[in-house]
Amino acid sequence: MTQWIAVPLGIVASVLAAEFVAGLIHWMEDTYGDPDGRFFGRWVVRPNVVHHHFPRHFLRNNWWRSSWDLVLGAVVLGVVAWALGLLCWQVVLFLAVGANANQFHKWGHGIRRENPRVVAFLQSIRVIQTPAHHARHHTDPKSSHYCVITELLNPLLDRVRFWRRLEWCVLMTTGIRRRFDTSVRGGGPMPAWLEAYRPHRVSQA
Ligand SMILES: [Zn+2]
Ligand SMILES: [Zn+2]
Repeated sequence: MTQWIAVPLGIVASVLAAEFVAGLIHWMEDTYGDPDGRFFGRWVVRPNVVHHHFPRHFLRNNWWRSSWDLVLGAVVLGVVAWALGLLCWQVVLFLAVGANANQFHKWGHGIRRENPRVVAFLQSIRVIQTPAHHARHHTDPKSSHYCVITELLNPLLDRVRFWRRLEWCVLMTTGIRRRFDTSVRGGGPMPAWLEAYRPHRVSQA
């Protein structure tokens, strides 16, 4: 009998844990990521900056190009969990959902006919995040709704000002302030390298 409760609870907990970790990574990239940094700057932060300026640009990327960094992280964590004897189905589900966080994010930008039917259906019954919900992350000042998989965590985290409190902790302990988001009105000039991603420039290429 307990299995009937343990399995659904395990699924919800694994998905929400993946959603929270992916949201935390998204917040770190948006808040502190340096697009001119050596490795992470070019390969991880820049695509994020491009996304804030030109949100539909990443829809042209295939699954691997959008997900390689998360897949790599999931494989490393999976190997560590296996070595420690902690690899169970809940951990596998956590890693699988987390590795696909960017795919969920892309579905949050697709119009209904662009997304697979099953995805559009799951969005319509609010099992996975809808484009309308994710659009709030892209509304100035673009500092809320960092989670992109379901619609469960964002209202909770934003209501208790979780991300602002975290930023305060970072400021108090390290002195580091959040960077300006140049895609936000008044956020400073757009970096010159972003011009190459402007939609009309790409279509002319
Ligand atoms: Zn963002
Ligand atoms: Zn987005």
